[in-house]
Amino acid sequence: FYEQYLSEVKYFKDEKRLHEIVEIFLQGFFPLNNENQQQEELNFEQFHHILQENPSVFQSLYLISIPDQDNEDDEQTIWFKRWWMYIKNNTNRIAFLILYILISIALIIYVIIYHVIILEKHSVPQVIARIGGMLVNFNYALAVSLMLKQTMTIIRRLYYLRIFIPVDDHIDAHRFVGTMLFISAMIHSLAYALNFAINLNGHSWFSLMFTTAAEIGWVSHSATITGVILFVLLIIMVICSFQCIRQRSGCYQLFRYTHYLFWPIFILLVLHAPNFWKWAIGPMVLFCFEKIYLFKRYLPKYGRTKLISIRIEDEHVLSLMIEKPSNFNFHVGEYINICLPNIVRNEWHPFTICSSPERKDILRLTIMKKQNWTRKIYEHFSKEQNSDDNDMAEITVDNLNNKSETNSRNLLVYPREITFTDKQKDAIACIEGPFSTCTSYIFDCEHVVLVGAGIGITPYISALESLIYQLREQRCKCSRCGTMNYTQSVLKNQKLKKIDLIWVNRDIGNVSWFRNILDEFEAEQESYLASTTPQERTNSQEQRSRYLDIHLYCTSIRSNEQTMLGNLPYNLVANMYEVI
Ligand SMILES: Cc1cc2nc3c(=O)[nH]c(=O)nc-3n(C[C@H](O)[C@H](O)[C@H](O)COP(=O)(O)OP(=O)(O)OC[C@H]3O[C@@H](n4cnc5c(N)ncnc54)[C@H](O)[C@@H]3O)c2cc1C
Repeated sequence: FYEQYLSEVKYFKDEKRLHEIVEIFLQGFFPLNNENQQQEELNFEQFHHILQENPSVFQSLYLISIPDQDNEDDEQTIWFKRWWMYIKNNTNRIAFLILYILISIALIIYVIIYHVIILEKHSVPQVIARIGGMLVNFNYALAVSLMLKQTMTIIRRLYYLRIFIPVDDHIDAHRFVGTMLFISAMIHSLAYALNFAINLNGHSWFSLMFTTAAEIGWVSHSATITGVILFVLLIIMVICSFQCIRQRSGCYQLFRYTHYLFWPIFILLVLHAPNFWKWAIGPMVLFCFEKIYLFKRYLPKYGRTKLISIRIEDEHVLSLMIEKPSNFNFHVGEYINICLPNIVRNEWHPFTICSSPERKDILRLTIMKKQNWTRKIYEHFSKEQNSDDNDMAEITVDNLNNKSETNSRNLLVYPREITFTDKQKDAIACIEGPFSTCTSYIFDCEHVVLVGAGIGITPYISALESLIYQLREQRCKCSRCGTMNYTQSVLKNQKLKKIDLIWVNRDIGNVSWFRNILDEFEAEQESYLASTTPQERTNSQEQRSRYLDIHLYCTSIRSNEQTMLGNLPYNLVANMYEVI
């Protein structure tokens, strides 16, 4: 292992030096015995003893990462095997992509046959323009359909629909279709511009392009004018949708508002092309129904509610405890849009519900402070709490009993809980949704591997809390001896048998956000495992193994470790010299 590890470190490229150093390690770990012979074996106790005696060696060793041994296998895997695996895992995606391509080709062929054979128009630019126009109709209808969030939520909730429809890709598909729409519109416009340039018919090219001189269009010959406006609107919309703008802090609202241009684009397209409405009417009616349905966000039983309390977890994160409206129901992993109108008016932001659906009273959101809305909310509550004249009902400091020196400074301040009174205006909240995500399928799988980074863990926390509730519901206490038992084997009746939760964090401190839930789950799991009889445990592999395994990874290293990591090869050698 060391030989392989060191051979990858650039300092030890010289073979001789490498062997010399490996020899030093061997001498360090396999010292000479009483007969002056080098030991050949090292048991764990001896290994542990050496490390205990030499903390500096231990410090150097624990920073060594094991080389990626899978690489070798990967290289050996032949490309078509990988392709086959990809196709197997993405069958429905590929099927939908092929369907999309086939429909597009069919539409192109239809336009060619209709214009060249039936209408006997042989102008190539005109036929190309018509093809572009037809593809605009198709892609517009599809782009709107892909953003029917309620419909997507329904599809996700219906098992047999979602295994055929790749609903998890609807946003990616929307982006792709939007790009195709833009390309089709460009083809349509450029082909018409070329057609005008070829057939001037006594007009200037400018008058044909920018006035009604060309006399085309079914509403007062306005197709050229509406076409130019559409062209400009589409360009604005596309530019503001670029990832570099959309994901830039503070620019999301620009993306959002320019996307509302699809309404004027819809109206202009109806005026521009006589057949457009036939394509768009279905998706647009559904879209309007969804929008009307979502107005329930202002109704007290569905969306208008209030904050019960908030908890400032640390200097970046806060949790909102929201009163659950009586008719609001959701599934694990779903998210809502929230607006706090008395703090930031008319701005809605999506957050995953990280409490479980079994909790009847509360919805919990955990929010990480970014640059705009989230920062305003965080600062509003932390300022309000800090000011002396605030009228918050209760402030509690929940000490996490962590003795570490670095944390104890923070723990005097965090987490802080603020409970709201009924009179407080800033506690008013409106919620819209719920909308689904792929986390909803957790309970349909036997073994799930949940991977979350930082605050991205929130959907899984909801699932864990839900499992705690399910376990607790089946708990019963023996009236004689008081031991805890479970009425039936929860794990046996449920499809989900095993969860591996991988949580990648910058800092170990982030664990405090959800520490209570993780602790509760551990305790519940221990109690459940302890209650299964030894007989059961040996018989059933599933029951013997832990239900949840949490794998925590911290990506940031403390500055003192950073220097150490850089000097690692030298440190190792120096420390081993010390040992021998
Ligand atoms: C389905 C979903 C679930 C989410 N769940 C959580 C969660 O549980 N906890 C959490 O802390 N964060 C969550 N987020 C991210 C959260 O919505 C954004 O961090 C928040 O909206 C940023 O607001 P801001 O004005 O402070 O952002 P800015 O500082 O302006 O921007 C920061 C980033 O957030 C993005 N963003 C800004 N506004 C929105 C918006 N309305 N919709 C989508 N993205 C936006 C921007 O593109 C940018 O990349 C979730 C996002 C989505 C899409």
